[in-house]
Amino acid sequence: MNTQDIIAAAEAVHAAILANEQQIESLDRAIGDGDHFINVRRGCEAIAAIKSDLVPLAPAQAFHRIGVKLLSTIGGASGPLIGSFFISMGKALEGTAEPDGRHFARALAAGVEAIKSRGKADLGEKTMLDVLIPASRLLLRLADEGSDRDKLCARLKEEAEANMLATRDMIATKGRAHFLGERAMGHIDPGAKTSQVALFAVCDMVSGTLRDRPSALSSTD
Ligand code: ADP
Ligand code: MG
Repeated sequence: MNTQDIIAAAEAVHAAILANEQQIESLDRAIGDGDHFINVRRGCEAIAAIKSDLVPLAPAQAFHRIGVKLLSTIGGASGPLIGSFFISMGKALEGTAEPDGRHFARALAAGVEAIKSRGKADLGEKTMLDVLIPASRLLLRLADEGSDRDKLCARLKEEAEANMLATRDMIATKGRAHFLGERAMGHIDPGAKTSQVALFAVCDMVSGTLRDRPSALSSTD
């Protein structure tokens, strides 16, 4: 994985978020304050705007730069969470010029840990973490097993989809939705939805665009 791949992944996520505008909007209108789509879109636009600054950077520095930019760009509860996610990913990749699948899995785990500690949240609280924690654990396991890239992406997508859907039956104990108590039941968490959409976009990019470059995200080299 190089910085070009990171930029391509960010572009894929941006397109996927725009394609899911209606659902993301309506979920945050139902159990939040209706700004989640706008917050995430603003973040995607901010990354697109610094694209030329990212090109010469190593992956670690690119993630750091993205995180700092997002911290100052995205509002709401999700801004500091997503910003610190990327800063921690960058930190985990320091000293690694071309990260492989296992490096990336460890960086993702560090990013998810940052969200947990910044948001003081964990599994089962009806947040983005309900998608991100299991996805990160699964990626760590599959990358360590040297799992085939397409199988790994397919498994990650299945896991993300199931966990996103499972937030529908949860009561929120963090974020704005927790003020709703049982009334939040029946609605998927917007952050879980955007996390699933982003993971799908990255997985599709990895198993599609990177197919012809076996070393780009291999978990074995
Ligand atoms: P805000 O809640 O300030 O309006 P957003 O609408 O952008 O911010 O983001 C809402 C999403 O942020 C929620 O759907 C949830 O997934 C996530 N979230 C909220 N609080 C936390 C937290 N403490 N830890 C992890 N994720 C959280
Ligand atoms: Mg909101």
